Amino acid sequence: MKIVAAEVIVTSPSRNFVTLKITTEDGLTGLGDGTLNGRELSVASYLTDHVVPLLIGRDAHRIEDTWQYLYRSAYWRRGPVTMAAIAAVDVALWDIKAKAAGMPLYQLLGGASRNGVMAYGHASGRDLPELFDSVRKHLALGFKSIRIQTSVPGINAVYGVAAQTEGERYDYEPAQRTPLPVEEDWDTRAYLRHLPGVFEAVRNEFGPELPLLHDGHHRMTPIQAARLGKDLEPYDLFWLEDCTPAENQEALRLVRQHTTTPLAIGEVFNTVWDYQTLIREQLIDYVRSAVTHTGGITAMRKLLDFAAQYQIKSGIHGPTDISPVGMAAALHLDLAIHNFGIQEYMQHSPLTDEVFRQSFTFTGGYLHPGEQPGLGVELDEQAAARFPYVAAYLPVNRLKDGTVHDW
Ligand SMILES: [Mg+2]
Repeated sequence: MKIVAAEVIVTSPSRNFVTLKITTEDGLTGLGDGTLNGRELSVASYLTDHVVPLLIGRDAHRIEDTWQYLYRSAYWRRGPVTMAAIAAVDVALWDIKAKAAGMPLYQLLGGASRNGVMAYGHASGRDLPELFDSVRKHLALGFKSIRIQTSVPGINAVYGVAAQTEGERYDYEPAQRTPLPVEEDWDTRAYLRHLPGVFEAVRNEFGPELPLLHDGHHRMTPIQAARLGKDLEPYDLFWLEDCTPAENQEALRLVRQHTTTPLAIGEVFNTVWDYQTLIREQLIDYVRSAVTHTGGITAMRKLLDFAAQYQIKSGIHGPTDISPVGMAAALHLDLAIHNFGIQEYMQHSPLTDEVFRQSFTFTGGYLHPGEQPGLGVELDEQAAARFPYVAAYLPVNRLKDGTVHDW
């Protein structure tokens, strides 16, 4: 089944997305998501200039061989741009294979291991009443697990808190459509003092059962992360995410020695090698990689099978910069693997939904990829053409004295 065409479609319905569309000689098409938030055009170029010419004439059925060919033929290994591009090809080929088989993709991955995929939503507020309203809104939408992010007194703009800035805010969208990145401010000591009280208030208001999550967004040193994990133990978190930058995987040994709060890491990683120490030494509890940034379904399946040997579960990245194509790929994998943990889910904007026609559903707190052959997502190219690329960047963070800090 020869590939006869491959094209890259960049569109910006509320935010930027990079989509790869592969067509076979039998007229089947497959979609892959190559979106890398704030660096979208680099993946578009990598695909158009260096990958598409290699795909024409290849057998679309040879997914593993194509993965290895793209990974090893580049010679320069890993990195977010390369791995996002390989992921786009991989997911598009899985979409084609499942369409050729006349089955939803999860059937080719071993079939369903569960009835639905538990999702967590993002609640946030500038103060407790606003946060409680946001939690109630998510409960009303059906969410059974909720991430809690809040402003901190003395800090102007904190990661994860919606409605802090001007512009279209259908939900929390940190990538602002500005020619330069927005600059935010940060004070770790103020954050560490404030956060345990917020979780105490949320537990008092909503009771002990609701699974609560929190994202530290790489801002603490290992010893600060250890302290926060310990301070949050009474509030029984589902997980504490990215408590410290984890490029130095050994740093998690120190955090682990001090706290039983479950830890989730990996949304900025793009290969299994980024996890070798973390998984082998059981320093984390959840793998946060995105299918779209980690080489696609082929690579994620291997990563999660490795994690399963150490009782580590999935927590696949799923904010709005994962397009509906990338989200559908995650859902098929979530449904099929045994060591599923939870799926992040931020609803896309109505404009995004107009460009990407989806068949996945969200009912009673559970996502399901649907029963359409393939991924179950179609791209309306005419609608996509109405929304050209708009430059947008993730923010930069500075301490009070002006020092650049992890955002
Ligand atoms: Mg995160």
